[in-house]
Amino acid sequence: MAKTGDICTFCGRSSRDVNMLINGISGAICDECAQQAYVIVKEQQPAKKSSLKLDRTELPKPEDIKNFLDQYIIGQDDAKRYLSVSVYNHYKRLLQKVTSDDVEIEKSNIIMVGATGTGKTLLARTIAKLLHVPFAIVDATVLTEAGYVGEDIESILTRLLQAADYDVDAAQRGIVFIDEIDKIARKSDNPSITRDVSGEGVQQGLLKLLEGSIVNVPPQGGRKHPEQKMIAVDTKNILFICGGAFDGIEKKIAQRLNTRVVGYSASKETAQVDRNNFLKYITPTDLKSFGLIPEIIGRLPILTYLNPLDRSTLRSILTEPKNSIIKQYQKLFEMDSIKLTFDEDVYEYIVDKALEFKLGARGLRSIVEAIMMDAMFCMPSEKKKALHVTLEYAKDKFEKSDVNRLQIA
Ligand code: ADP
Repeated sequence: MAKTGDICTFCGRSSRDVNMLINGISGAICDECAQQAYVIVKEQQPAKKSSLKLDRTELPKPEDIKNFLDQYIIGQDDAKRYLSVSVYNHYKRLLQKVTSDDVEIEKSNIIMVGATGTGKTLLARTIAKLLHVPFAIVDATVLTEAGYVGEDIESILTRLLQAADYDVDAAQRGIVFIDEIDKIARKSDNPSITRDVSGEGVQQGLLKLLEGSIVNVPPQGGRKHPEQKMIAVDTKNILFICGGAFDGIEKKIAQRLNTRVVGYSASKETAQVDRNNFLKYITPTDLKSFGLIPEIIGRLPILTYLNPLDRSTLRSILTEPKNSIIKQYQKLFEMDSIKLTFDEDVYEYIVDKALEFKLGARGLRSIVEAIMMDAMFCMPSEKKKALHVTLEYAKDKFEKSDVNRLQIA
């Protein structure tokens, strides 16, 4: 018979059948049981005391929030102002000690409309960083109605719980960024008679999360673990920020504006419409025409937009933010004691290529990566302690790279 110390006291398996056995004074536990125990402890732990690090005096004011965002995100002033104010109000609402005769402040979930790669996720992520609250990003495209292939709506909260390290109280005050919300739009403006598994059904499912309710969340997500114990999460104080490109919504906005200008009510205001950026004029009506159901729109009362990134914005993104792409590469080289510098026209070249390949801000990184790849490979094992990137060098490296071949493909 196996001695104590040779078998796991919890599951009875012998040391031969497990990866590791940890011995205690009068028993032992195998790696799998230890992991299982950890999960149970995390789940059962009574909600820790409030993990929201803010109190009323510490709460950053909208201007402080915007200043913080300015360090990381170029431009997008309107979106920054809207976000700063609604986040400030949201946390003020959380800190409000409600008495029965008090005015109850309603939650102000946010929806941001703007082309992909214009900084929506970055804005949401940066706000969460400032506030030290759990933050989760979910992609609406993977969500389906319960029972269909894809992820259940509740999985959104699983992510938040994981980000909060299963501290339910912290998760209940966190921020969720739902990306690509436009992808769950109804396919046509008319309520469908056939089932719309990934569209309207998902919107209906999202509603209960957005409006605030107690949701049973599978701690590990998915449907692979039907036996797992559910965790109840109250979404009342979770701030939802939704983002989407809403491709083609400009046409709907333009149509609406045009209808208004027809006839003799055409005012000066409508005559001065900025035709390069219709998103500026977006209203909830446009979201409805795009296929979001009115109930969802009602639960996302703060609507703001992001500007397309023009040449000068791309140029600034490259070097100005606190952790700009160029600064990141300089840091990487510095860690090998190499001083990395660039000629000014290299920046212009990178921006030109990003525009030419229509890669937007995300493309800036791939282009810089392509230029720097050889140096990153060779220099750590060489003695040279400086690299100055000239336009000639950048062109040579980029033209030989895979990114350049994208254009030909
Ligand atoms: P979206 O969510 O709108 O698709 P992201 O926020 O993911 O776009 O942006 C992609 C990347 O592009 C970011 O990680 C960031 O490096 C860069 N970026 C985009 N817009 C900006 C901006 N306005 N300021 C600074 N960086 C930006």
